[in-house]
Amino acid sequence: MSIDALRAHIRDVPDFPKPGIVFKDITPLLGDAAGFGSCIRLLTELVRPFAPDTVVAIESRGFIFGAPVAAALGIGFVPVRKPGKLPYQTRSVRYDLEYGSGTLEVHADALRPGQRVMVIDDVLATGGTAAATAQLIEEHGASVCAMSFVVELGFLGGRARLGSHEILSLLRY
Ligand code: AMP
Repeated sequence: MSIDALRAHIRDVPDFPKPGIVFKDITPLLGDAAGFGSCIRLLTELVRPFAPDTVVAIESRGFIFGAPVAAALGIGFVPVRKPGKLPYQTRSVRYDLEYGSGTLEVHADALRPGQRVMVIDDVLATGGTAAATAQLIEEHGASVCAMSFVVELGFLGGRARLGSHEILSLLRY
């Protein structure tokens, strides 16, 4: 399936979750067997050249894409989650949201120094979530080899905010 055909399976939902936001709804893509399979294959081939040792994906929609890509590459999968969800010892990072702040956690033993980590999420918007995730990874002594997204909202400047990190995306808006 072509990139344009994939694009046709992403639904715009205006004013969700609040007025003024156009939400990129990936559920039509997930529900289409050919579309979802094609998306996972394309994402896998996009990240493969970076030879990651592990995938880190961001709760919750990042898990939907990160886990099958990790399995296809034959590498491990590490979840980054919202506070209070992970059962073992965690490390956390606080980051700024449009209003207030958020926190993300990862298991303290999930990453090893020197590992090459591929970050995967569904949508790159302002880049705040991805930047916080990169900080969490680098605090473990691991390195971010690239960050990849199904959808990049280019007009929100996430790529610039993520600075020197390599940014990969399948669909740009
Ligand atoms: P940000 O930190 O601004 O890059 O936001 C990224 C996170 O919020 C991602 O995990 C996305 O799932 C979600 N997100 C932000 N904006 C949108 C949008 N317009 N449509 C769908 N998801 C979004």
